Amino acid sequence: MNNHMMAAVLYGKEHLHVEPVAVPTIDSGDILVRVKVALTCGTDVKVFRRGYHARMIVPPAVFGHELAGDVVAVSEGVANFSIGQRVVASNSAPCDACFFCRRGLQNLCEDLLFNNGAYAEYIRIPARIVQKNTYLIPSHVGYYDAALVEPLACVVRGFEETAPRPGDTIAIIGLGSIGLMFVKLAKLYGCRVIAVGRRKTQLERAAVLGADDLIVAAESDPVKTIRSLTHGRGADVAIEAVGKPQTWEWAANMVRRGGTVNFFGGCPNDSKVNLDTALLHYSEITCKASFHHTPAYIRKALDLVCAGHITASFFVNREEPLANLLEVMRHLMSHNGHLKTAIVP
Ligand SMILES: [Zn+2]
Ligand SMILES: [Zn+2]
Repeated sequence: MNNHMMAAVLYGKEHLHVEPVAVPTIDSGDILVRVKVALTCGTDVKVFRRGYHARMIVPPAVFGHELAGDVVAVSEGVANFSIGQRVVASNSAPCDACFFCRRGLQNLCEDLLFNNGAYAEYIRIPARIVQKNTYLIPSHVGYYDAALVEPLACVVRGFEETAPRPGDTIAIIGLGSIGLMFVKLAKLYGCRVIAVGRRKTQLERAAVLGADDLIVAAESDPVKTIRSLTHGRGADVAIEAVGKPQTWEWAANMVRRGGTVNFFGGCPNDSKVNLDTALLHYSEITCKASFHHTPAYIRKALDLVCAGHITASFFVNREEPLANLLEVMRHLMSHNGHLKTAIVP
């Protein structure tokens, strides 16, 4: 193997280059993966726009975190993987020893190890992720499908934490790939889905996944519309998958008495929201937020992908070579309402 490869290096705010860098070396317990596909993600676009992410990445650094590929090197100490296997590796792994991990909150681990560098020909998967969060891809599952496991794990966890019941009415605000994954899960679970989005194309996609009612956010007051669709009561559950204070407020205002809200979308730092305390209290609204995933949910997400419930044919609608990543990021930044792009290094 040549010891150089092409990789995207993030230097700062809207500043990245696809350039030759050294192929990563691997230490004990690590594996090296030839990336077959890396998917773009809303978080990457956010990091590109801001130039940093407090926990995930400190530039200059290789970039990208949703990937699937082939094992091309294993270090000593790796027993469960061998060269030539097709694998999907998560972007993080918890320590399983800290206060939070011991309470089953591995997503909040004090020492969560993040891995970036999927927009590259090769990526090193560190030992801890090899042990806890890397899986073989069954032969009937494609690389593109497998690469959906990481974002899907966040969604499956958020869905279960919100604990809807079959038959419940779920309002889902925001119909990017995350919101649409929620639509799909809610339909699989037997819920009625009211999808709230800004664009007609997004609502059409939600309808394809089975959404029962569609609300164009700009055309009406979504809170009033949801109440009129639910005998005045409000939705049983509302999931906010946008990450804006206004949509957080809508979500809290559109659930019924005793309902549950999940603030799934992270707002920009220092954002504040206005919540009606009387409403929260006298209507007994449960407010939740979900961040990231745990190894158990990576496995659940992989099972959903292997069963064919979530496929790249729906969630990935563009494919570009690695060399075009800068243009792809700019495009994703300037438009809303499109899905994932497959970057092929
Ligand atoms: Zn992601
Ligand atoms: Zn921990």
